[in-house]
Amino acid sequence: TGKSIVKIAGRRYLYLPKLGYIKTSKTGVLKDVKIKRYTVSLEPTGKYYLSIQAEVKAPQKFKKTGKQVGIDVGVADLAILSNGLKYPAFEASYFEKQSRIWQSKYSRRRHLAYLLCEQDKHQKVLNLRSLESFSNWQRARKLKASYQKKVANKRKDYLHKLTTHLVRQYDVIAIEDLKVKNLQKNHCLAKAIANASWSMFRQMLEYKCERYGKELIAVNPKNTSRICSKCGFNSGAKPLEIREWTCPNCQAHHDRDINAAVNILYKAMPNGQELAVVNS
Ligand SMILES: [Zn+2]
Repeated sequence: TGKSIVKIAGRRYLYLPKLGYIKTSKTGVLKDVKIKRYTVSLEPTGKYYLSIQAEVKAPQKFKKTGKQVGIDVGVADLAILSNGLKYPAFEASYFEKQSRIWQSKYSRRRHLAYLLCEQDKHQKVLNLRSLESFSNWQRARKLKASYQKKVANKRKDYLHKLTTHLVRQYDVIAIEDLKVKNLQKNHCLAKAIANASWSMFRQMLEYKCERYGKELIAVNPKNTSRICSKCGFNSGAKPLEIREWTCPNCQAHHDRDINAAVNILYKAMPNGQELAVVNS
């Protein structure tokens, strides 16, 4: 960490005290900003990262569109909108698979190295090998870390694009307060990933709405998947595998997620029901 004397030294170069010139493609985004601090860190992938804290001029607000939307979040589709649009969850199956493969190789090799070290100790070998001296598991550790990082970066990038798009499109965005929804802890990987994505999704919506002059409303998720968005009839809980249903009161046919998203929007808008019925 250092006090800022980082300078843009050329079109593709930054100058850092002690380290000298480094090549980067990011000099464009650093134009017109005041660099306050910087930190150089070594990642488990063996790569160095430079993070910069900078002062930026207040961003331009996005244009008003006059549109409101309710958003329900899910596992297969990350975001389901009250207007029927669905945005799929992020897929990085190749990198995820590689990351799982190297995770298990890493665990196995590390365990083997540990056993050999123990054996050395037991046999009172003169030159004890250390865990670190087994390059095979060190290699697996680096590869595992780099695939995990890749997946995380790609997911984050996808969420950034999606949330910026949404904040640009709508003036008011209503979501469920997931802290209230509080999903029970479970060991299912897909759900765990979805959980992490949802909280990142919300955080991004929060600060982007604030930054670009839009409004985010978090509503209590109670009954949003039970109530018919046409007539307001509560037909009770439905098992998760039921993706579509028909309201026993008004016979409206609903997509489970879209209906929930519409209800989320109604909860966020005073007199929302009238407003939406007029629109539809
Ligand atoms: Zn109904």
